Amino acid sequence: MRKYAVIGLGKFGVTVAKTLYENGAEVIAIDKDEKKIEEVKGLVSATVSMDSTDEQSLKNIGIVDMDVVILAIGEVETSVLTSAILKKLGMKNIHAKVDSDLHSKILEIIGVRKILFPEKQVGEQLAYTLISPNVLRYEKMTSGHCLAEITVPRDYVGKSLQELNLPNEKKVHVIAVKYRDESVTEEGDNIVEEKINNLPGANTILNEDDVLVLIGAVGNINSLVKDVSPDGSVYL
Ligand code: ATP
Repeated sequence: MRKYAVIGLGKFGVTVAKTLYENGAEVIAIDKDEKKIEEVKGLVSATVSMDSTDEQSLKNIGIVDMDVVILAIGEVETSVLTSAILKKLGMKNIHAKVDSDLHSKILEIIGVRKILFPEKQVGEQLAYTLISPNVLRYEKMTSGHCLAEITVPRDYVGKSLQELNLPNEKKVHVIAVKYRDESVTEEGDNIVEEKINNLPGANTILNEDDVLVLIGAVGNINSLVKDVSPDGSVYL
């Protein structure tokens, strides 16, 4: 079973800790505030009340035996110091939540590779889905790539992936196609299930209401979204 330590039990940390535990993971929840610790007792595997900037305390609880540490403290100084200690102890798999670009940059310099900026990421995602009615999901990655889900544009309906040739035409890859599968039960009831084609091939034909799961450089995804917007009113 994978072992997780969640440091900082604000709204973000508690959500991550509880969800991991509910899904069968071993989760140690850490906070310096005894009240926060009381709130999560019974919702995680174990709790520890301690200051995460104290190297010896981190060693004592066996932090190095954890597969993943989720650092969910917004306060920059504490987050930076804790990250630096975790790196010094050899932790590689650290997911840190940040509240500002500056905070993100400092953690990047320390060598934390998985940085989350929830307010910014969710805000951006909402904005892109509002800007274009085609966009259902839009997620930027730190690598400069973007993962997007878009409903099949009208111009693409009835065409195969080979005809569309998106990798060459738009420099965007289709990694999956979600589609509605309609069938009739033995009792004669119509049922509609959402299915996913995880390995769409050149011959995959796109139908109305299909959803394309795309990956590509942010600029290329943006330009595809702009091109296929029904009224051209996208400002990306
Ligand atoms: P959220 O937005 O998720 O609610 P936040 O970004 O406001 O959280 P903070 O308020 O900075 O985050 O801290 C989250 C939690 O981290 C708090 O419960 C706080 O007690 C705890 N915390 C802060 N500093 C330390 C520390 N040095 N050691 C352990 N826990 C700490």
